[in-house]
Amino acid sequence: MRTRKQHIAHVSTAVAVSDAKSGSWAATAAMLGFDAKMGTTLSDVARGKPSAVTPEGENLIRLALGLPAISSIELAPCPTCGGDHNMRGIPDCHGRAVAAVVALAPGQRVAAVRKPTQPRTLSDYPVAVLARMIANRTSYED
Ligand SMILES: [Zn+2]
Repeated sequence: MRTRKQHIAHVSTAVAVSDAKSGSWAATAAMLGFDAKMGTTLSDVARGKPSAVTPEGENLIRLALGLPAISSIELAPCPTCGGDHNMRGIPDCHGRAVAAVVALAPGQRVAAVRKPTQPRTLSDYPVAVLARMIANRTSYED
């Protein structure tokens, strides 16, 4: 099960890293105050490689480049289906379908949909239903 969404560095980070490259990637990493081994990561970020950095790692790179940090909210995936409906305020769907978000106009309200009850006697049926029953009736002559 996926536990974390694949992070891709923001385009502005990739461009800034690319522009900051001076000599080798290892030298660029050192110039920015990182360990030389970070050069591989910087190269991956510059190429837009998915999962090259975590969002936190990207922010460290951005701060080293003089860019503002990107704020993000970490939301855990649903423990039942692994879906991302937590961002719609439903942390666990328990396997039930998650309804789409509907915007209501002023004056509109949400009403529960009740299962229609079966009329007990023929006189309780709506006229349209009775007419359909008569039209579709079967013959007992056979
Ligand atoms: Zn779910």
